Amino acid sequence: MKFEFCSLASGSKGNSQYIATNNFALLVDAGMSGKYIENALKKIDRSFEKIQALLVTHEHSDHINGVGVLMRRYKLPLYVNEKTWEGMKNKIGKIDVEKVHIIKNDECFKLGGIKIKPYQISHDANDPVGFVFEYKNKKISIATDLGHAPEQVIEKIKDTDLLFIESNHDIEMLKSGRYPYYLKRRVLSMEGHLSNDEAGRIAKEVVRHGRVKNILLAHLSRENNFPELAYETVKTVLKDSNIEVGEDVDLYMTYREDTTKLFDV
Ligand SMILES: [Zn+2]
Ligand SMILES: [Zn+2]
Repeated sequence: MKFEFCSLASGSKGNSQYIATNNFALLVDAGMSGKYIENALKKIDRSFEKIQALLVTHEHSDHINGVGVLMRRYKLPLYVNEKTWEGMKNKIGKIDVEKVHIIKNDECFKLGGIKIKPYQISHDANDPVGFVFEYKNKKISIATDLGHAPEQVIEKIKDTDLLFIESNHDIEMLKSGRYPYYLKRRVLSMEGHLSNDEAGRIAKEVVRHGRVKNILLAHLSRENNFPELAYETVKTVLKDSNIEVGEDVDLYMTYREDTTKLFDV
C-alpha cells in the first residue's frame, strides 16, 4: 500500500505535484507544458496513464498553463472551485465542460480512496486554495502561493506526514533586489508569497505537533532567493527551537525545472 508524492516542478515558471496510491494518481496544478509533465513522470518511472484527475489551486498561469493540453490529450477530469474556474476557463482553450467538477472550500471529497480537503489561503487570485490529502491515516499537505499563514491555515496542515510549503523569497534579497516597487509590495503583502522566515515558522509549528517526517520547500523565487539560503534559513529557525534537521525531521528542496525524489509517505 503506497501513498506517493513527487514535485514535478515548483516555482513561478510552473507548478505540478504528483500524488498516487497503488492504483490511482492525480496531479495538483499543471503549470508546465504537457510535454514537460510527461517527461517528468518518465523521469520518476511513473506513467501518465495512471493519472485520473487534475486539481487546480488557483488560476495564475504558473498553475494552469498545461491544463488545457492535458485535459484534451488524456480526457482528464478537472477539480476546481467555482471562482477559480471562472478565472481560468477562458485561458485553457476548448475543453469538454462535462469534465469540470466544481468543488467547495472546506468540503471533503474522495477520489480513488483519497480524502481531499481544499482550504482557503490568502493570495491575489479569485479563490485560491491549499489541499490536504488523506489516505489510510497518512496525510500530505500542500501550502503554496499564500501571503501569510494565520492560525486557521496551521490548523489545517499541522497533523500532516508530508508538508509541501512555500519558501518563496528572502526578505532582504527581495527588498534590495531589482523588482519594481509594486511587485515588491505585491510579494510582501498578505496576499503575496511566503518568505523563508515564514516557511521556517510554519515548519516549526507543524513539527511541534510531532507527526511530520518530510518538509519540502517550494515555489522558490529565482530573483529573490537561493536554494541554499532557503534551506539554511528554515534549518536555523528550526534549530532555534531545538528541532534538528536530519534527526527530528527531514528537509528537502524542490526545483523549478526538475523533479524531487519520489516520497513514500
Ligand atoms: Zn504560483
Ligand atoms: Zn499564484
